[in-house]
Amino acid sequence: VVDSRIMKIASAIRVIPDFPKPGIMFQDITTLLLEPKLFKDTIDLFVERYQGKNIAVVAGIEARGFIFGPPIALAIGAKFVPMRKPKKLPGEVISEEYSLEYGTDCIEMHVGAVQEGERALVIDDLIATGGTLAAALKLLDRVGVEVVECACLIELPELKGRDRLGARPLFVLVKAD
Ligand code: AMP
Repeated sequence: VVDSRIMKIASAIRVIPDFPKPGIMFQDITTLLLEPKLFKDTIDLFVERYQGKNIAVVAGIEARGFIFGPPIALAIGAKFVPMRKPKKLPGEVISEEYSLEYGTDCIEMHVGAVQEGERALVIDDLIATGGTLAAALKLLDRVGVEVVECACLIELPELKGRDRLGARPLFVLVKAD
């Protein structure tokens, strides 16, 4: 059974064609944030799934993982750890490079933010090719964190990003095409 909240959440996400470049259907979650009830439902759906699962860390991916991660972390009693684009974090960092269609990108986390053996949830707004989440997983693996699951609001299943996460489970609310 599909939770009735999910259909409303899906319809509150605005799709903008050809942004930021031709051919991309941009899934804009800012319209969901304008609906307090639906924003809360979104957070609640994740909280219902992860509370009581002994998760110590919610790792959010810049930038939209910073919108959804913190309220989930607060509700389940976990710490929030930002995973950022390069050269944003002021302290000592550990980084992981990953390839894009053209060139490379990189994701960084503060050294000491997480401890070996901690159980983590990784959150972003959307999984497309899976490159970003795969890099986040590699980085967390390197520091010995146990990623319990990755969570996104939206999956673009045609891009098969899920396959890049290996055996790691991925939970999504909405599949878009
Ligand atoms: P990927 O690494 O290919 O899975 O891309 C995921 C990242 O790019 C996420 O942080 C998304 O916010 C962003 N992204 C990729 N494609 C889209 C899209 N069609 N609409 C909105 N955001 C996207």
